[in-house]
Amino acid sequence: METKKRILIVEDEKNIVDIIRFNMNREGYDTLEAYDGETGLALARREKPDLILLDVMLPKMIGFDVCRTLRDEGDNVPVIILTAREEEEDKVLGLELGADDYITKPFSMRELIARVRANIRRTAMSAPAAQTERSAGDALTIDSATGQVYKRGVLIDLTQREYELLTFLAGHPDKVFSRVDLMEQVWNYGFVGDDARTVDVTVRRLREKIEDDPGSPTYVLTRRGVGYYYAAHTAAAP
Ligand code: CA
Repeated sequence: METKKRILIVEDEKNIVDIIRFNMNREGYDTLEAYDGETGLALARREKPDLILLDVMLPKMIGFDVCRTLRDEGDNVPVIILTAREEEEDKVLGLELGADDYITKPFSMRELIARVRANIRRTAMSAPAAQTERSAGDALTIDSATGQVYKRGVLIDLTQREYELLTFLAGHPDKVFSRVDLMEQVWNYGFVGDDARTVDVTVRRLREKIEDDPGSPTYVLTRRGVGYYYAAHTAAAP
């Protein structure tokens, strides 16, 4: 039997923690709680949760610093930032710091559950995605059976969202997708507000991991004014 996934809730408003815990437990997830940033960081390090729901405004250490610290330590646990509606800029800043997603307060539990499910780290036992390997000898290999990506044989640790973006684009080589398309196909929710920047930030982070020169990419390319695509026939550099 598969062990339960564990979600760390870092939030200083106890009533919000209570309702998130109740709903996550009902969905079959175990939960851990922290009511300040320092405790959240310590629990993340010690307990290795499968996903973190992270408030921004927290006592002792703000959510952004918790996220940045974990990323600096090489921890790629999925992080969903909980932002207040008046803190629109927080969304993009959170993504820049390595968060995988954000949700704006007040949020519906249905929406939160959907985003948790979408972001929880894939396991080696996850169902195979579409076969998207490029030709033999190519530098980038997507092993769809294990959900892992290798660059010249070295495992690249992608977040769930980065992996889904890469496999979606690679599954449709040379087809250009707009940011709106990608929000709907990869993020699975409707396009709102400044979500274009969410796509841009995720593409940039993906490039930093898979491209030799992120400023001059050869895999995930930009079609200016239109969107992004995966280049099927780029010549491998000698
Ligand atoms: Ca707070």
